[in-house]
Amino acid sequence: MKSFHEFPNILIHSGKFTSKRGNTETTFEIENYFLDVMLLLTKIRWKWTGWAVLCEILRQSGKRMVIRPYLKGMESLAPTDTKAQALAKLKRNFNATAGPKNWETATPKGKSVLQCGGPNQNQPIAGLNGKGGGSDTIVSFTPAMWVKSDVKGAFGAANAAGPGIKKDEILLHEIVHGMRQMVGVMQCAATPDHPGLDTVEEFMAIVISNVYRSELKLSGLRADHRGFKNLPAELHDPKKFVFKDKNKPTSNYKRLKQLKIQHPNLVTNLKKVPAAFNPFKYI
Ligand SMILES: [Zn+2]
Repeated sequence: MKSFHEFPNILIHSGKFTSKRGNTETTFEIENYFLDVMLLLTKIRWKWTGWAVLCEILRQSGKRMVIRPYLKGMESLAPTDTKAQALAKLKRNFNATAGPKNWETATPKGKSVLQCGGPNQNQPIAGLNGKGGGSDTIVSFTPAMWVKSDVKGAFGAANAAGPGIKKDEILLHEIVHGMRQMVGVMQCAATPDHPGLDTVEEFMAIVISNVYRSELKLSGLRADHRGFKNLPAELHDPKKFVFKDKNKPTSNYKRLKQLKIQHPNLVTNLKKVPAAFNPFKYI
């Protein structure tokens, strides 16, 4: 593993794996893994949005982020699978993730540790209590998976052309999840005003990635966590996005304010991002 330039607590896996069974050692390599991830990180770093996020990670100097291949799809395959079975498994396991090493320190002190996906999403995980302080994090992401033809196969043509699906956008999205785990503010709370977001954590990752997309001057903004649809046009106006249903028990405004309290330096930097969609300017 090597670190990413001037960000020593971001480490990139080599993409090489060796396993030993008896006397046989097998090596398996994802071609160009390190280089592919490094180039994507470089692209992210040279945008104001990405730079702001990477600096927030740098501030968590006692915590590390490891970026390694997402292998769930490949690991799910069995030598006896038919082609159709193998494809179905790969489709089911087409993803990228960010997970804390320690769920309790990734969650604020005194708060419940909540499920981040699955049927019990937003519910407390029994026996775990938030301790705060932050955690190391593992981002599982394979750039070579996120090519248009494969994304089409996994999510359909409309999603494959949607906002938020590009390799650098997927990586930045996962990095934001990981950043919050490193700071110790992760909590997959519900978003009843907008159930399609799934959790507060998805809101945070999606809104920052949307500012990045806007900074890149690409059209469209990702609507929610259920695919890669476009945000309704009226909400492309950042003011309307911030103040829509402001006073509901949960709202974009309240989540953005929460983000500002939890990451004051990050938000100070995000306010400066020259992007048409920059809701941070209004909080
Ligand atoms: Zn996510």
